[in-house]
Amino acid sequence: MVSLTLSVVVPCYNENEGIHELHSRITSVCHNTVGEAYELVLVNDGSSDATWKIMRDLSKIDKHIVAVNLSRNHGHQLALSAGLHMCRGERIFILDADLQDPPELLPEMMERMDDGCDVVFGQRIKRDGETAFKKATAFAFYRLLSRMVDIDIPRDTGDFRLMSRRAVEILNSMPEHHRFIRGMVSWIGMRQEALPYNRAARFAGETKYPLSKMIRFALDAITGFSIRPLRIASILGCCFGISTLLLLAYVLVNYIFGKTVEGWTSLAVIVLALGSAQLFVLGVMGEYLGRLYMESKGRPLFIIQEVVCLNELVEKDSSSK
Ligand code: UDP
Ligand code: MG
Repeated sequence: MVSLTLSVVVPCYNENEGIHELHSRITSVCHNTVGEAYELVLVNDGSSDATWKIMRDLSKIDKHIVAVNLSRNHGHQLALSAGLHMCRGERIFILDADLQDPPELLPEMMERMDDGCDVVFGQRIKRDGETAFKKATAFAFYRLLSRMVDIDIPRDTGDFRLMSRRAVEILNSMPEHHRFIRGMVSWIGMRQEALPYNRAARFAGETKYPLSKMIRFALDAITGFSIRPLRIASILGCCFGISTLLLLAYVLVNYIFGKTVEGWTSLAVIVLALGSAQLFVLGVMGEYLGRLYMESKGRPLFIIQEVVCLNELVEKDSSSK
């Protein structure tokens, strides 16, 4: 393996407006921190705009760039995984293409790693330029997640982080398709530290995480790290059992005192409640079963169509992992 001090990995999906700015800010911070010993792995996740063209052109004039083109849109977490498989540096710096996470925090993260950390992750204190809805759902999501899962996944933390080579190797060895990378990194353990920062607004373009993708992401996170939802059936069963006993007592008392039971409405409500609880539980089981089915196929996580780079030592064959 080539001795590179640092790899910067950036997944990009329809980010053509911001790539030049991203390139110049990362280049200057890397030069100031590690000199020439770095690479910038830009992963194009099946963009439909000029993202790939710009990346490819940049990679022809800057020898630090490794431009990776995926065969189609694989989603943020898989695009990032592709970048993590391709990179070769001793330390790996992950950030988004929209410059919401400032690359200028790199020197501070490097210092923390010099002190022996394996992972230094950015923890958001404030989020600028995001809708109240996004902030509220993100707030609720991280709190719900920490109640649901058994490992300690830090709150308000994205994928913005610096990781050691050994931590990335362990992450790369995890084969799951439904990836929630920040959780998988927490699962690894070792010494991980938070670096608080203010999250800026997007430099350009719009969020690539609409509500439907956020829901899917949240489901991946919860099902990937917890089987607690599967226990909902037992909990509901107990609750309904107790309610039935109480209802029975009520009916008996009424019977003893000679009151006849009219209750069509109560009967209908009970049937509906039971029916929806059963469907809900079936749905939860279906989520896990579906994921099990998808994993059982053992397909590669991503397909790389093309790699463009001036450096001859970079593997450029089309590949998959
Ligand atoms: N992204 C990607 N593939 C996708 C969606 C997003 O590679 O299918 C990238 C995107 O270009 C960005 C990062 O993932 O670099 C995070 O996306 P975004 O900034 O839209 O998410 P947000 O910050 O709004 O949660
Ligand atoms: Mg963003």
